[in-house]
Amino acid sequence: MTARRRVRGSTRQFAKDKKAFRERCAREHAVCWLCGMPIDYAAEPNTTDDSFNLDHYYPVSKRPDLQYDPAGFRPSHTSCNRLRGNKDPELPLGTLSRQWISTEPTG
Ligand SMILES: [Zn+2]
Repeated sequence: MTARRRVRGSTRQFAKDKKAFRERCAREHAVCWLCGMPIDYAAEPNTTDDSFNLDHYYPVSKRPDLQYDPAGFRPSHTSCNRLRGNKDPELPLGTLSRQWISTEPTG
């Protein structure tokens, strides 16, 4: 892998866009685009399974050029994003229940 330096302003702009995006999602009570369930916007991002996590329509690993493009931002659960990994966006939205996430026995 070549470690290319990113253009300076873009990461700072990304941080700003990211924050604005989360605030907008919180205001609109946007649901997770992967499972359709409400997101816990009260929690700090990426701290709990239900907390907000910025996902990208196209995985950043596949389309790093779109990483900073707000048009590709999607609200997701931290846990859902983790499970999604680098899969392509071909999920049958709306038909998934939360059950498929619970692969681990809770007790
Ligand atoms: Zn989710």
